[in-house]
Amino acid sequence: MAHHPLQIDLRSLPDEGIDISGSLPASFFGLKPDDIVQATGPLAYELHVERDDQDLIVYGTLEAPFALTCGRCVESFPYQVSMESYQTELEIPSDTSTMDLTEALREDMLLALPSYPRCEDGNVESRECPAQGRFQSESDDDAPSQPEGQGQAVWDVLDKLPKPR
Ligand SMILES: [Zn+2]
Repeated sequence: MAHHPLQIDLRSLPDEGIDISGSLPASFFGLKPDDIVQATGPLAYELHVERDDQDLIVYGTLEAPFALTCGRCVESFPYQVSMESYQTELEIPSDTSTMDLTEALREDMLLALPSYPRCEDGNVESRECPAQGRFQSESDDDAPSQPEGQGQAVWDVLDKLPKPR
């Protein structure tokens, strides 16, 4: 198997660290076809990796395009994650000679996505949510209105489906 670019060999890591850059296919994110978030292109990375005693210091830029599902209209919309001053520290276990950055990068990129995606908040194209106002007017009677600024997750929409009694 070819050497993975995000696997850092600590034995050959120079004191001043190394610079790594490149891109990894969208499959890097390991998302399933029915997940509410999809990676639509490669992860581009440009990182400096350096050892500081028992920690591995990683900083640089990360960028990847995603498609999110709007929690209101349930339509898909593009969302770009660009982290220009990404930084993380990974503890190096004592018996480890190779550190894999994959999990940390994947998790931090996905955490950078909005947890309550709304298509009008997309940062790629400007868009008005076709469901804007629809849910509010329907729920005025019996449901407390959502506080301003709080989104609606897809799982909230699913919770509102009629349940058999
Ligand atoms: Zn929408």
